[in-house]
Amino acid sequence: MAAHIVIAIDGPAASGKSSVARALARRLRYRYVNTGAMYRAVTWLAVSRHVDPKNADAVHLLLDATRIECGFDAAGESTILLDGMDPTAHLSDGAVNASVSSIASIPDVRRTLVAIQRASCTESDVVMEGRDIGSAVFPETPYKFYIDATLEVRAARRQKQGVADKIEARDKQDSTRPMSPLIIAEDAHVVDSSHLTIDGVVGEIIGRLKLKNLALPEGI
Ligand code: C5P
Repeated sequence: MAAHIVIAIDGPAASGKSSVARALARRLRYRYVNTGAMYRAVTWLAVSRHVDPKNADAVHLLLDATRIECGFDAAGESTILLDGMDPTAHLSDGAVNASVSSIASIPDVRRTLVAIQRASCTESDVVMEGRDIGSAVFPETPYKFYIDATLEVRAARRQKQGVADKIEARDKQDSTRPMSPLIIAEDAHVVDSSHLTIDGVVGEIIGRLKLKNLALPEGI
């Protein structure tokens, strides 16, 4: 059972969930946990150490030998250090995009990172974004959202960012892996962000949270 309120934001690649989750967390004065960044950080480590992302045993050994430190920065956003190194600048590298879904399908990796994710709400309320937050990490939270957008809109968003990212292939791999695949949790509220601004999506989520009688900071 979560010690604090957890608002789960799941969705496919480039659906806008990071921007939405960050903006929502700021408005509610919650902390923001980006779980995709955790899987990306482990992927960056494997790639930079020349460990095959598809070799579960080799990745397991790498993980065992690595000190993972997760915390929050002054703005309340999740941080990760691997053996003291900050991988942030590399998390959107093409090589990371290409291998992150393979790394994320390895059960040992998921178990290690999910334990960290569950521990991250022990001190404060959080908005947590990912693929399996509502379905597997915090299935008991009543606050679950699934942010979607058409493939065309999502591909255009990535292209604008100028990074190589085969989002359709990533979605397919994420949706078909045996452990905690990307699914829409039964009780999640789906928001189609294709034609909405970030503020528009955040507004819809806040409206829904009010309907669920969640106590929000004054003025919201
Ligand atoms: O959200 P983002 O695109 O940064 O996530 C990168 C990858 O990390 C996803 O494609 C998926 O393979 C993995 N992931 C996951 N479970 C999460 C968050 C991300 O499997 N909760």
